[in-house]
Amino acid sequence: MTWQPTDCHAHSTHSDGTMSVADVAARGKALGVRVTVSDHISRDAPTSVDSVAAIERYLDDLEQYDVLRGGEFCWHDALWREVPPSVVRRFTHRVGSLHSIRLSDGKFFRAFSSALPDGLTTSQYMEAHVTSLEELAGEMPVDVLAHPTLVPPPMRTLDPHELWSEALETRAVNALLDAGIAFEVSARYQPHERLVRRAVDAGVRISLGSDGHRSDQVGNIVMPLALTRALGVADDALYDPERHGSRTGAYEA
Ligand SMILES: [Zn+2]
Ligand SMILES: [Zn+2]
Repeated sequence: MTWQPTDCHAHSTHSDGTMSVADVAARGKALGVRVTVSDHISRDAPTSVDSVAAIERYLDDLEQYDVLRGGEFCWHDALWREVPPSVVRRFTHRVGSLHSIRLSDGKFFRAFSSALPDGLTTSQYMEAHVTSLEELAGEMPVDVLAHPTLVPPPMRTLDPHELWSEALETRAVNALLDAGIAFEVSARYQPHERLVRRAVDAGVRISLGSDGHRSDQVGNIVMPLALTRALGVADDALYDPERHGSRTGAYEA
């Protein structure tokens, strides 16, 4: 089959996107990109997909369209633990996210918070981020880790090479490799090249994600694709659940 880029992560009006599923499908077609609807599935995210019954209705709707059927699950919320296998298999692939990380005191902290907790240094935050990433990889049945470098807004202006030591990068990459979870190169929260290169060199599967919420974003994976090509990743090695299987979804791995 002719290769087409696959956007493994985008949103519709089932959660906080502005486009209907039909519009997402049409947008992908216009761009020549295979698109995924991967709305938030969580009791702690802006979404209507917040129960097992709602997940079934969501999948009923997605099955009407030419889209890959994904879902973006919050690691810190328990809903992903409650989805029965018969429902899990209806997803083409699933995405896991660290929308909150667990700090060393055991409390969860939202990655969208406008300020860090008092007394927490950025290096302590990053240690907790990577420890949470390792926990996610060890227990969460997902195919892709969304936006692995998502950090709170006050940290986004800092040089990622200062946030990420090489030791932290190696831990994150090894956790994904051991679990068989793909590293998402996100158009929305762009990872620094050194980390993506480390993942590629280690043999971690790479996934492209627009994390699009609007029509100018959905299916727009130009930047992630340019980066993976610059790093020498073959187009057909980029994660595609139909080609590479899914750990728990509709395609046998
Ligand atoms: Zn997310
Ligand atoms: Zn998302």
